[in-house]
This record gives sequence, structure tokens and C-alpha cells, in this order.
Amino acid sequence: MHCVIEQQNILVPTNGNTCRCGAEAVVNTLCINHFCEQIEQRVQETITRFSMLSTDDKIAVAYSGGKDSTVLLYILHKLGYKVEAITLNAYIGCYSKENVQNATAFSKQLGVHLSHISFREEFGYSLCYLRTLIKQGGNDLTSCTICGVLRRYLLNKHARNLDSTKIAFGHNLDDEAQSILMNLLKGNPEQLARIGPITGITKQEKFVQRVKPLYFVTEQEVITYSKIKQFPVHYGACPCSVDSFRYFIKTLLKNYEDKFPQAKQNIVELFLKLKPLLMKGNTEKLTACGKCGEPSSHGLCRACALIEMVVK
Ligand code: SF4
Ligand SMILES: [Zn+2]
Ligand SMILES: [Zn+2]
Repeated sequence: MHCVIEQQNILVPTNGNTCRCGAEAVVNTLCINHFCEQIEQRVQETITRFSMLSTDDKIAVAYSGGKDSTVLLYILHKLGYKVEAITLNAYIGCYSKENVQNATAFSKQLGVHLSHISFREEFGYSLCYLRTLIKQGGNDLTSCTICGVLRRYLLNKHARNLDSTKIAFGHNLDDEAQSILMNLLKGNPEQLARIGPITGITKQEKFVQRVKPLYFVTEQEVITYSKIKQFPVHYGACPCSVDSFRYFIKTLLKNYEDKFPQAKQNIVELFLKLKPLLMKGNTEKLTACGKCGEPSSHGLCRACALIEMVVK
């Protein structure tokens, strides 16, 4: 076993391979340069395969300052797309503080405009406090359930205010395989039909299309790319994620993967084949939320429904 760039903590076994260019391999059979080039090409191929973005699009990158969104922002910018970034501060202690600091520094370094959106300014509370107040009303929801709904709501609203034509998310292949399994285990075909490389199944004037250019990049590849580039990124997990269903599925998939290394790719490719069938007969329509006017498939959008659960 041979690891070339241990000083950067990238422990990828290469078995002493040499890259086609003659340089020492750092990831399987690729040197640093060819590994990075391959990831960037795969992102561009994904964008092309699903017609995700054009050079006319004004793209808002959902930028947490974590590894996935940092890699996404960097690659889209490098590929010549028109990007700006939106960071949402949910006030999850040091985790949010460090991520926001990193996002601010890195977007400045890239010369990309960054909008700061605050849970406290938008909803009056931090995520943790919101969860406590919702629980007091008898609704014991996980932090990720609340955070996910409110983040999507804020991103859509602010991306639209910035005149963005697309929102790009840093979801990687692992995230997508987890989302597919989560919806399968919950027996939720409507929700399953909504996920995919381009999110959403219906169009509405206030809804900004969501895309996932890292769809075929694994989490490990994101980490390796980010460490090679020495991006300012905190690699620890969000402290609120450990009680989530996603965390449970992630652990389950990880154990399964040790025996079946292609499991995540197979889950995602199978899902892509089945998605047209899942979408058939789906009559869901997006209208405007009766309270805030944002896009919603119900009379009240999920964000307003959550805020109504808050016990004041
Ligand atoms: S892991 Fe969950 S709580 Fe933490 S930032 Fe992500 S969605 Fe929010
Ligand atoms: Zn090479
Ligand atoms: Zn609403």
C-alpha cells in the first residue's frame, strides 16, 4: 500500500501505480492533476447529460462553506459559468460559525459575490431554538427535517430575488443514493419522483429550478479534490445530523459498500432508469402558499406550516 500525499491527509491507496503522464499516482491510477481534471470533466459531462446549465444561466450556488459546496462553487466558476453564492446561517454553534467564515473567505478569494442569509433574521430564532419551540408544541421533528425545509424555502426566495435562473446544490453521489434509499424505506413514491439531478417535477413562476452538478462524484472524491486543492473547509459532520434518518442510512450504506463497492452507483443508475415511470401519473401541481406566496403543493407551504408549529 502506497500513499503519496499523506501530508495533506489524503489516504488513497495507489499500490505504487504510475499515472499515464508518468507522474506518481495518488488516486488509483491518476496523478493529482489528472485526478482533478477527471472530476471537472465528469461535472461538465453531468451538466451536459441532463442539460442542467447553460452559459446564459445566472446560477446561485447554495454555499454552506462545507466541502461539497466549496468544490461545486470552485468547479462551476472554473468551467466559466456565471455564479454567485448564498450562505444560510442556521446558528448551529461553532459549526455554522466556522463554515460561514470559510465561505466568506473563499468566495472573496474567488471573486464571487456572497449573500448572507440568517435564520434569526428570517424566522426570529436559531435552528436549535426553533426545534425546541416546535417540540414544546408536541411535534418532535429532527433538526435536519426542520433545517432542510427552511433552507430550501430561503434559497428559493433569495435566489429568485437575485434574478437567478438556477440554484446549484453540492449533493454528491452518496447523498443521492441515501435520498433514494430513504424514500424507498419510507414508502414515499411522490417524494422519490421529486429527487434526481434536476429537482422538482412541476414548473411554477416563483420556483427556481434546482440542479446537482456533483451528481456522479462520490463523497470520497469530493474530499480528495478539496484536500488536494487545500480549500479552507471543516471536514467534521454537522453536530445536529447524528439523530437524523439520513445518518442512519449513511452508516447502513457504508457497511454494505465494504462488500459491494459499486452499490451507490448502482442505486443511482437504477433510480434514473425508473424515474420516468415514477413521474408517470404524478399530477402534483405547484401553486402559491396562502400565507407567504412562495411555491407550494399545498395550501400552506411546508416552511409556513413549520413556523406555525412554533410555541411562542
Ligand atoms: S446536517 Fe441537518 S441540521 Fe445540519 S446543516 Fe445539514 S440539514 Fe441542517
Ligand atoms: Zn497524470
Ligand atoms: Zn408559506
